[in-house]
Amino acid sequence: MKTKYDVAVIGGGIIGCSIAYYLAKENIDVAVFEETQIASKSTRAAAGMLGAHSECDDLEIFYPFARSSQLDYFQLQDELKELSGVNIELRKGGIFQLAYSEHEKDELSATLALPTISWYDCTAVRNRENSVSEDIIGAAYIEDDVNVLPHSTCLAFSKSAQVFGASIFEFTPVLAIQKEDDTYTIKTNKGTFQAKTVVVANGVWSSSFFHQLGLHHTLSPVKGECISVSSEQPLLKHTLFHEHCYIVPRDNGRLVIGATMVKNDWHEQPTLGGLESLIAKAKTMLPTITDLKIESCWAGLRPQTFDKKPFIGYHPEDEDILFATGHFRNGILLAPATGQMIRDLIVKKDVRKDWIEAFKINRI
Ligand SMILES: Cc1cc2nc3c(=O)[nH]c(=O)nc-3n(C[C@H](O)[C@H](O)[C@H](O)COP(=O)(O)OP(=O)(O)OC[C@H]3O[C@@H](n4cnc5c(N)ncnc54)[C@H](O)[C@@H]3O)c2cc1C
Repeated sequence: MKTKYDVAVIGGGIIGCSIAYYLAKENIDVAVFEETQIASKSTRAAAGMLGAHSECDDLEIFYPFARSSQLDYFQLQDELKELSGVNIELRKGGIFQLAYSEHEKDELSATLALPTISWYDCTAVRNRENSVSEDIIGAAYIEDDVNVLPHSTCLAFSKSAQVFGASIFEFTPVLAIQKEDDTYTIKTNKGTFQAKTVVVANGVWSSSFFHQLGLHHTLSPVKGECISVSSEQPLLKHTLFHEHCYIVPRDNGRLVIGATMVKNDWHEQPTLGGLESLIAKAKTMLPTITDLKIESCWAGLRPQTFDKKPFIGYHPEDEDILFATGHFRNGILLAPATGQMIRDLIVKKDVRKDWIEAFKINRI
């Protein structure tokens, strides 16, 4: 078995697989080590919204980074399909971000000031989505905040990376990493591997490597619960979004309702209380939703940093260790931009200085 690589990536979620894809495409010899199966953790739990506008709380850094990532998806859907055969199911239609009062409309003013966003009053929204609650006063319509299937997208990155020569090791947890001379030794349950560069991308579990590498940072889990329901006739064409809750239409009349925000809970099962609150919230947006049949429910752990921005960049004292973790609510959206930024840092191409500063691990 081959045991020497240019780059070892720890974690086979969407962030690790996107990094592997962009590195392998550049002819860099990369291996991904995944404790269980590709796309099995937070990535599998996500709704897949690409909310560059609806999740934007910072026009200077988040918006341009997220927007470039979002735009990349429009090109990636064909590129990844051709390479991997996997359809990421990029679904157009966009988002209605609902307002129930003038105060909530005012809170949307920053979103409404972004390019391509327009205000629809209640009648205009209901002309396009006649099942939406009559209690809204209107909504910001965000056409470009489309969605993808996160699990398929991660698989598409991983399979496409393999087409370009990447190795993917599933059921191979990394137990420890250690530098000897100029090379990192990566200890796993399947033996020892060597790499010149290591990227720590194992989501909320990255903290254990921070500590091994002399850093005192932590990531905390913010558990999110979701339910999917099905109807014979498609009930929605657009995603509905209000106060961090959403109803996302998928194929075959399926709707994904998400997601709770439970801080510091490491359990990956949904609770009845969590699901009850989701159903109550969904009913305020789409009153008839309670008639639909439950298909499944699940939960996942969002990796959160102290300031809710991801850590993307070098170890402060060693450029052969990089971090790409802590993507919190937006890891699916930010995966292409993160993969490209890590690639560019490794091959020493130019990266926007404000992104390096904003995402570096030793920021204050
Ligand atoms: C309910 C919910 C809804 C969400 N909705 C959206 C959304 O609509 N849009 C959006 O953009 N984002 C969304 N997110 C956020 C998004 O899912 C995450 O930000 C993203 O999946 C993080 O990806 P990741 O690769 O860093 O982590 P993960 O997907 O958790 O992957 C980390 C991987 O590392 C592996 N691992 C752990 N330890 C080790 C080790 N020692 N060795 C090897 N492997 C290891 C794990 O098994 C796991 O597979 C949502 C999250 C949740 C929970």
